[in-house]
Amino acid sequence: MSTISLANINHDTSQQHLAPYAAQDALSIGRLYPEPKASYRGEFQRDRERIIHSTAFRRLEYKTQVFVNHEGDLFRTRLTHSIEVAQIARAIARALRLNQDLCEAIALAHDLGHTPFGHAGQDALNECMREHGGFEHNLQSLRVVDKLELKYPQHIGLNLTFETREGILKHCSRNNAKRLGPLGQRFLQRTQPSLEAQLTNIADEIAYNNHDIDDGLRAGLITVQQLSEIELFSEHFAMATKQYPTISERRKIYESIRRIINELVTDLINTSQTAIELKSPACIEDIRTTIEKPLIHFSEAMRNKNRVLKSFLHKNLYQHYRVHRMSKKAKQIISDLYSAFFNDIHLMPNEYRDHADIFQQQKGDSGRARVVADYIAGMTDRYAIVEHERIFNARII
Ligand code: MG
Repeated sequence: MSTISLANINHDTSQQHLAPYAAQDALSIGRLYPEPKASYRGEFQRDRERIIHSTAFRRLEYKTQVFVNHEGDLFRTRLTHSIEVAQIARAIARALRLNQDLCEAIALAHDLGHTPFGHAGQDALNECMREHGGFEHNLQSLRVVDKLELKYPQHIGLNLTFETREGILKHCSRNNAKRLGPLGQRFLQRTQPSLEAQLTNIADEIAYNNHDIDDGLRAGLITVQQLSEIELFSEHFAMATKQYPTISERRKIYESIRRIINELVTDLINTSQTAIELKSPACIEDIRTTIEKPLIHFSEAMRNKNRVLKSFLHKNLYQHYRVHRMSKKAKQIISDLYSAFFNDIHLMPNEYRDHADIFQQQKGDSGRARVVADYIAGMTDRYAIVEHERIFNARII
């Protein structure tokens, strides 16, 4: 029988050749509940693996990005979106000698708090929670990893490092920041997070702008002709057409999107590298105490081109009447479910009912409302639709 020896395994789990201002395992601020170090994995690698093993991560497969899950098999879901964000973030991190494992952990966790039905679902739940502290998906992502995942005997949540939690919390109101201890400080002092957090935030934007072009075209909600007025798309589509005149339009679209991502990423790397060199930070604390704008950013020209694309997508895709119809139905489902559960917690599964009961005793109506919001936010699109049927359709059990 063969035995596995750890003797020959590289115990130096840190990424080689990191910049001095990159996040580093050995210098991590640490976890909420202290733990011994793993023998063959780095701290951020561990975070990433905990996220992948979480229940919330698996649910991303059936949550809306723009298109509701049952609208088609080829559209992005929150899961494929998160994976695309992770790979763009890794590429940028590698080029800038920043911590790839940390970027990947942040990317894979950044949308864990999203409700079913994307932004329509969040807006509806926020409206329902107006008198009880509101609902914000970004804050909910932190709540999922800090409190709602119950997988470990020693603590609630996934007990991730400060650095991963810092990256997950992209924005935060001052009121919420005051409740979050060290993690909330930067929103009160208006300082910046790690470069890994900054770049993963932009990788998110690069990913969704580009895959939404692809999905929007595939769904027939936007056209190549409309996009020809958008500089960022039209110049690459023209080049792809010139270079490959005989290929199908779909392949030209893929080629254009590939080139757009490359242009955005290249600009981001070059501009950020210059900004970093100018500031010449010695360590991650020099990054965190920066008060001016983030060091990771696009050039002025690229920011303008990107802005035009974003507003095009906003007007023509996210506000398209077919997307709007689904959003309207989604909001109805979320607010119906919320009212039903808030008014009668016995309609929820026992575990949530018991939690709601305890939270009601401890924190009043707002405590009960938070448990209802946690239950609804955790649902996938299809689960929310089925649950709505079960509650409101007498013929469904
Ligand atoms: Mg995202």
